[in-house]
Amino acid sequence: MIGGGLAGLSAGVALVEAGWRVRLFEQRPFLGGRATSYMLPNGEHVDNCQHVTLGCCTNLEDFYRRVGSAGKIKFFGRLVFQDPQGRIGEMRAGMLPAPFHMTGSFATFAPLTLADKWSIARAMLDILRGKGHTADLDTPGGISMLEWLKRRKQTTGAIERFWRVVLVSALDEELHRTDARYGVDVFWKAFLSNRGGYRMGVPAVPLAELYAGCKAEIERRGGEVNLRTPVRAIRMENGAIAGVEFDGGRVESADAYIFALPHPAMAELAGDEMQRLEPGLVQLAKIGVAPITGVHFWFDREVMREPFVTLLDTTTQWIFNKTSLYGSSNGAGKEIGQYLQLVISASYDLLEKPRQEIIDLCLKELHQALPAAREAKLVKATVIKEAAATFSPQPGVDRWRPKQQTRIGKMFLAGDWTDTRWPATMEGAVRSGYLAAEAVLRKAGTPKQILQPDLPADGLSACL
Ligand SMILES: Cc1cc2nc3c(=O)[nH]c(=O)nc-3n(C[C@H](O)[C@H](O)[C@H](O)COP(=O)(O)OP(=O)(O)OC[C@H]3O[C@@H](n4cnc5c(N)ncnc54)[C@H](O)[C@@H]3O)c2cc1C
Repeated sequence: MIGGGLAGLSAGVALVEAGWRVRLFEQRPFLGGRATSYMLPNGEHVDNCQHVTLGCCTNLEDFYRRVGSAGKIKFFGRLVFQDPQGRIGEMRAGMLPAPFHMTGSFATFAPLTLADKWSIARAMLDILRGKGHTADLDTPGGISMLEWLKRRKQTTGAIERFWRVVLVSALDEELHRTDARYGVDVFWKAFLSNRGGYRMGVPAVPLAELYAGCKAEIERRGGEVNLRTPVRAIRMENGAIAGVEFDGGRVESADAYIFALPHPAMAELAGDEMQRLEPGLVQLAKIGVAPITGVHFWFDREVMREPFVTLLDTTTQWIFNKTSLYGSSNGAGKEIGQYLQLVISASYDLLEKPRQEIIDLCLKELHQALPAAREAKLVKATVIKEAAATFSPQPGVDRWRPKQQTRIGKMFLAGDWTDTRWPATMEGAVRSGYLAAEAVLRKAGTPKQILQPDLPADGLSACL
């Protein structure tokens, strides 16, 4: 196993459970890849960026259960939205069955006008009729989500204050660069097919703590987890992988190799012969990347009560109240009044901006959204820009996403960018890991089902 992000860890855990001896090699000193945390000199833990999951992410939930981390995720059924005028909207399930469970909160959602709501309801009906599929999604090369919305005559308010708010956060891309297939899927799986699909799961511990059980599980079954061990080259023999090379010319060989790297790193490692044998490796150059920026603020006192809030019409998209989410589990954080983390997905405009400018901009928005912050002292602030946070779900990108089983002997791929039909998420990464493990077992003549099914449709959605 090369790569200790969620894809590599989930494949590794699935394979040790199937009786394989797994040796995992990760270049960094910790596990978790992009979904991880690190420790500050004062002992406080900081996520590289806030990560959230949804009720419809069944494979991630299964993975957390396998490694003993399911209890470390807090689920919330109430999502709060706030606009600059201070108007609050909520999304929460009421008494009605799916797909009408959100009707009550949607009807009273103050930041949207009646015309916005009416146009959204019509588009939702379209998604519902096709159970998450509409005919125009089959257009060769795909269509963008913005085009899909325009065809359904969505108002500007509906696009800016509803579709864009949900989808830019979920898919890390602007609507005109997002394949509508992904956008429609989010609304079907999270909001329409099931009452629980939209519930938001937020880790109650720093991200790296979620993976402690993976190392233990792999080692308990005779495997190894090697940190600070980057693979530098791949050796080929007769159309198959003969070994992977590490610093100092050390070579290790195995019965099967799962490469669970980010796609740019995989493209860089694949030599000419590999690219000739597996055209999927050449196509990786066509998969773009999208950025996410996280802004961390520490205040000398409490400035926010909600666990998280979504802001409308601002650069800042989400504010997470890390102090309340972590409770007492954040190392040295106890002497700090309140620690907040702000998230901006598809943050192209911020990439070139100096960090202080980003801090000033976000602080201004925070002061407007949270009046208590105006009186508070900002103790410290930091900005983390991830220029290649996720692959960009651009129209037609599915054509370039390779399967987990390759045409090269002993070589398997995992990673959120491989063909899972899911966008770049922790769920997508775990799905890819499970699919890679299934491919290894199939090839070895011991097939096993590891991938978990989607949440079943319930309520009236099940009768459709
Ligand atoms: C800022 C940010 C915010 C995000 N927010 C969310 C969110 O809220 N919800 C959500 O579901 N998803 C979110 N994501 C996406 C999610 O983090 C990823 O989809 C997922 O973690 C990808 O996992 P992976 O295993 O495919 O890849 P990675 O996590 O990138 O793992 C690949 C691993 O390979 C290692 N590696 C690379 N080269 C080598 C080498 N040569 N030898 C050995 N090891 C190597 C890397 O160090 C890394 O550990 C976010 C991502 C970012 C960056």
